[in-house]
Order: sequence, then structure tokens, then C-alpha cells
Amino acid sequence: MPDAAVTVIGGGVVGLAIAAELSTTHSPLLLVERREKYGQETSSRNSEVIHAGLYYPHNSLRARLCVEGRELLYDICEQHTIPYKRITKVITATKQDEVPPLEQLYQHGLRNGVPLQLLNERQVHALEPHIASVAGILSPSTGIISAHGLMDYFCHRAEEHGAQIQTHCEAVGIEKRNGDFRITIKERSGVSSFTSERVINAAGLECDTISKLAGIDIDACGYRLHYYKGSYFALPSSYKNYISRLVYPVPPKDTLGVHALLDLGGRIKFGPDLEYLADRTLDYKVDENKRHAFAASVRRILPMVKDEDLTPDMSGIRPRLPLENGQIHDFIIREETDKGLLGFINLMGIESPGLTASPAIAKYVRQLLGP
Ligand SMILES: Cc1cc2nc3c(=O)[nH]c(=O)nc-3n(C[C@H](O)[C@H](O)[C@H](O)COP(=O)(O)OP(=O)(O)OC[C@H]3O[C@@H](n4cnc5c(N)ncnc54)[C@H](O)[C@@H]3O)c2cc1C
Repeated sequence: MPDAAVTVIGGGVVGLAIAAELSTTHSPLLLVERREKYGQETSSRNSEVIHAGLYYPHNSLRARLCVEGRELLYDICEQHTIPYKRITKVITATKQDEVPPLEQLYQHGLRNGVPLQLLNERQVHALEPHIASVAGILSPSTGIISAHGLMDYFCHRAEEHGAQIQTHCEAVGIEKRNGDFRITIKERSGVSSFTSERVINAAGLECDTISKLAGIDIDACGYRLHYYKGSYFALPSSYKNYISRLVYPVPPKDTLGVHALLDLGGRIKFGPDLEYLADRTLDYKVDENKRHAFAASVRRILPMVKDEDLTPDMSGIRPRLPLENGQIHDFIIREETDKGLLGFINLMGIESPGLTASPAIAKYVRQLLGP
């Protein structure tokens, strides 16, 4: 008998959602997290938006799991009093030449199963009088959520069903042996190992490292991750009533564009931008020198904002797979049987909308695992 039926590596929102989902049927279930507490990396360094799912390629995992996850999240928030707000969002075209791409985005979103409404200039300004706009899209199913509240819920649910969440516990070795996996872990007390029937790699920024530990050639498989940092700047409370919902631009390539966010406390932030981190250092400091470039993006939405109004806020890092047909790669969620790793499930490149999709990702992993 192996020591664990399932071991989840990584205590971000995705690993915790999977632990919560599987804990009702798989025992013993162990989640190992290298930090002192769960949710200290990307899962607590994001926009906390419940995305509607309008941008992603039709039928991609990102689109399907976002649409499904969004509805699951609203139900979870409602039933378990997790702080959230169905705040809605406007995508604004600020010049006439942005109107055709805006209309294309609208059609694309409808195809993805997202409820949307096209707005003319007057309708946008009735909703958001301060923003620059010649036309827009209203997304009524976009919301905001407390990521920590959601992770606390997943963690409690997993523990309630007997799962063990082990922090300060880093996976440093994985070996397939006689049908099971031998996992080596580093804790404060030293290095030890145990066996597990199944392994789920939800290590976020380190998913490629974990794949490598399991013996996968990450370059041959296209699994090497690239880090892209996203920084945010905040506006002072004097701007509190300038917007009442999220406001996004018509998206440029590879990002959603620097957009206006409202957090659950009503604070306005702008971000995230896109910065390649060639050396993969986890450097979360926000570079003050970006203020001017940020202010220019912000003024596309709120023209009255001055450079000095903006203060550096937080940042997060996207684990990005190599591009797929010139576009952001879809999530990779698969059992690696064809690599000789029956029982090893990889979750690679879970960048946005991973928070929104987390409960749907967990259900998808359950299907892959089978009985
Ligand atoms: C700037 C930014 C904005 C975003 N905004 C949104 C948004 O508004 N809405 C949305 O839906 N999504 C958003 N996302 C995406 C979302 O945050 C991520 O998809 C999600 O948090 C990924 O969760 P995760 O559990 O896969 O990864 P993580 O949160 O990174 O968790 C992985 C965990 O694995 C642990 N770990 C790593 N290696 C080991 C090891 N060897 N042993 C043990 N533990 C290990 C890490 O410490 C970490 O806690 C955003 C992302 C970024 C970067």
C-alpha cells in the first residue's frame, strides 16, 4: 500500500481546489506546499477578477473552464459567504478605429457562451460618465472575489474531508517505482520520502521543474515556462467614485491591456502590464520608473489622471508556455501516461483565468483521474 493515494504538489488556488474536490473520494490525500502558508505566490498576486470568458480561443480549455468555473465560483461564494461582488465590466473603444475589433470581440464572446451587451457612446457614458469612450461592451457576468477567502474555503473543505495540507514542505524528487511514485520532500526537520499512487503537479511557476524531476524532457515537450511579470499602480481615494465597475481597453496582443480594477474595498488600481523576466527571478518589486508609461495607458481610460496620482502597488508573475500558433498557449492539463508516467497529472501554464477556472479545473482533473 502506498502512503498516499494522491499527492498534490503546490498550494495555490488550483492545488487547493483539486485537494478540496478529490478529498471526498481519495484518501489519504496529501498536499505539499513549500512556503510557510498556502497561496503566497501567483494566487495572491492577481487582479482577483471573476472573468466572464470572452477573450480566449473558442473551445479552448481556457475558455471552457473559465465559463464553467465562473458559474461554480458564484455558487461557492453565495453558499459559503466568500467576499465577492458581481461588479460587471465595460470594455471601452476610445477611438473609432477600435470599434471593429470591439465588435469582433463581442461576437467572439457570444460564441464562447458569455452574456454581453454592445453599447453606444451615450450608453457607456450613462454607466461610466468619466471614462473615454466612443462605444463599448458590457459584461454583466464579470465580478471580483477575495482570492484568500476562496483559498481558505478550499483548504477547510479539503481538511474537513481528511486531506493533509503540509506547508514548509518542498517536493525535491519524484521517481516512478513499481507502479507508484516515490516523492522526496524537504522540510525544516530534514529530507525524507514517501510513496503515492498518484501525483498532481499544480506547482504554478515551478510546474516545469516538477515535470523535470519526474523525468520529463521539458524542452522536447515544450513545457519550459517563461515568466512574465505584471505590475499594478493605484489611484488615491479621491478617485473613488470615478468608476463603478471594471473598465478594460480593447485588448492589444498577448494581454488584456492595462485596465482599471476596483477591489472589494473600492480602491482603484490599474494593471497589469507585461514584462519578460529572462532570469526567472521572483522579483515582485514594482519599478517606479514605469509610472509615466502606466499613466499614458491609464489616461486612455481616465483622461484626467496625472502621472503623480499613481503610486506603485503590487505585482504578480505569469507562468507562460511557449506560444502556440503565435498565440498564448492553452492550459495543458493531462495525465502523462504516454511518457511512462501513468498516474501523474500535469497542469502547465495555468495563467489567467486560472483563479476563475479553479473549481472547473478541479472537476476536470477528477475526470482525468477516473475512479
Ligand atoms: C498579474 C496577474 C493577474 C491575474 N489576474 C487574474 C484574474 O483577475 N482572474 C483570474 O482568474 N486569474 C488571474 N490570474 C491568474 C491566476 O492568478 C493564476 O492562474 C492562479 O493563481 C494559478 O494558481 P496556481 O495554484 O496554479 O499557482 P500558484 O498560486 O503559483 O501556486 C503554486 C504553488 O506551488 C508551490 N510550489 C512550487 N514549487 C513547489 C515544490 N517544489 N514543492 C511544493 N510546493 C511548491 C508554490 O509555492 C505555490 O504556492 C492572474 C495572474 C497574474 C500573474
